[in-house]
Amino acid sequence: MSTKKKRSRKKQKVYTVHWPILMGLTALLVALVLLVVGVIRACALPEGDALSVEETPEPIIPAPTWSPLPVDINFTKVHNTYVKVFMQDEGEIRDMLLEEYVLGVVAGEVGPSYPMEALKAQAVASRTYTLYSIRHGGCKTNPNADVCTSSSCCQTFRSDAKLRKSWGDKYTYKYSVIAKAVMDTAGEVMLYNGKPINAMYHASSGGWTEDSQNVYGSNFPYLRSVESPHEIGSRQTGEVRYHRGTFVEKVNGARPNAHMEEEKLEEQLKVLSLYPSGRVEKLQLNEDTVTGRTARKIFGLNSAMFTVEITNDEVIFHTKGFGHGVGMSQAGANGMATDGADYRTILLHYYTGVTIGVIGQY
Ligand SMILES: [Zn+2]
Repeated sequence: MSTKKKRSRKKQKVYTVHWPILMGLTALLVALVLLVVGVIRACALPEGDALSVEETPEPIIPAPTWSPLPVDINFTKVHNTYVKVFMQDEGEIRDMLLEEYVLGVVAGEVGPSYPMEALKAQAVASRTYTLYSIRHGGCKTNPNADVCTSSSCCQTFRSDAKLRKSWGDKYTYKYSVIAKAVMDTAGEVMLYNGKPINAMYHASSGGWTEDSQNVYGSNFPYLRSVESPHEIGSRQTGEVRYHRGTFVEKVNGARPNAHMEEEKLEEQLKVLSLYPSGRVEKLQLNEDTVTGRTARKIFGLNSAMFTVEITNDEVIFHTKGFGHGVGMSQAGANGMATDGADYRTILLHYYTGVTIGVIGQY
């Protein structure tokens, strides 16, 4: 290779090295300008626009992708089934359109911050539960009514007057959200062997729902234990603590045959067996044995899915889930809807082998 050629190649090499440096410098300059502009704009924001760390923002209800409905809904558009509702507060029975009642139940049971598909699942479950109740002797504590407004007996219900009071100036919007879930599924009902099912549901399953016979003795083929892996919400775990003395008093008060002794708790208090879901089947209370469901009542536990810890001073129950655990988990439906499931998928997950039909089909 000649010297001339060597020199010219060297020159070319030096020349090409400059471009990336130049481009890098330009990019740096642009970034600096953008940063300065950003800082100036941030400083110019009014104080209210900046979220301080301490502030707890209100839960955000996503803007609807549909047009909100007029508040004046025609509940008889699809069907005009009526239901006799015992109003707990008023102490009287009211004849109400089924869909109007379902709206008050969905509002009371889960509320408008739930995802739309979970609200629809709740609407179908509540409607089906009501139709089942009508066909099976109505409310157990108010025999002249089909259902009552007590959450411990039938389903939670909020009257329009109560909703107006609690929702205030957000009433129209929140009402429209619930009304959409109800009206989009109006008349839809879950069927098994062509009949409306006993559509039980609960707040949170702790990960697995329960076979109906393990809680209520009755074996409903569509109320089977299923996994519920998408649970969302604050009612996932709980804790109940008793001083050893108080605990023993409570046990011997509720179960006089137990003869429990404070000094011997470690030997006398034992979980004897669990269902496959993880809920307690039997709990030993010294000379007596109770079901997990009874233990839940005696000790005021969120659910029968619990473990017991005994310390020098206390008996501590650690619980998972909230409610009886049978049928649809509301927290699980929330999670499934958040992950993109539609209401039919949610219902078919929690109610084994059902179909979704309409009122009048059976
Ligand atoms: Zn009732």
